[in-house]
Amino acid sequence: MLISEMTMEEFSAGLKKSRTVLIPFGSTEEHGSHLPLDTDTLHAIDVGRRLAETRNIFVAPPIHYGVCRSTSEHPGTISITTETLKALTIDIVSGLYRQGLRNVILLSGHAGGTHMAALTDAGEKLLQMHPELKIAVLTEFMLVAKTGRQLIETAGDSHAGEIETSRILHSHPHLVKGSAPREFPAFPSGILVRNKRKFWPGGVWGDPGKATAEKGAELEKLVVAALSELAGQLENWQE
Ligand SMILES: [Zn+2]
Repeated sequence: MLISEMTMEEFSAGLKKSRTVLIPFGSTEEHGSHLPLDTDTLHAIDVGRRLAETRNIFVAPPIHYGVCRSTSEHPGTISITTETLKALTIDIVSGLYRQGLRNVILLSGHAGGTHMAALTDAGEKLLQMHPELKIAVLTEFMLVAKTGRQLIETAGDSHAGEIETSRILHSHPHLVKGSAPREFPAFPSGILVRNKRKFWPGGVWGDPGKATAEKGAELEKLVVAALSELAGQLENWQE
């Protein structure tokens, strides 16, 4: 049940089938010289749509902007602040709650630490605000960190590398502009740097050369299966 495509009558009828909603969070962020800026958002939208094909669940319109720290100087990255992301999340989830939804999954295709901290902070606040709310805050990566490991050859692959390139080769092949060299940036430990591109010129973390559409299809399947399990777990959650 894709909220953006429903009428108000369909929305009301949908509430009789499910009180669960997934909100896809992404980013507008450089993903090397070969992947689109919308990569993270596409990941989250795609698995949300697949999930909605297999179980009764609402999927909210996606959030195309996130908090991007280490890529903030690269061309095309449009980052928002943690304060904005937190406020936006609280407003959107509160709106969904007012409309009758009770189980909320904040699924992020962007896994930045500062970004996830802002979403978690919003989640904690929302738990205090809404007594009947159940909420999960997670990245796709968390869902398949164990099960997907045997599919991926590159140790430490994280950004625009084997995993993300495989996913987009599968889901949106026309948006992949060739490949990019493998890269493992070495940011200093503890010290925050102004000139981020000096430490990370190519904007890739991992090895896009090892990507295939088949791996992307497998990964997507694993994410959707794990997500479906999580949705069931959240719906039955008691404490
Ligand atoms: Zn990404």
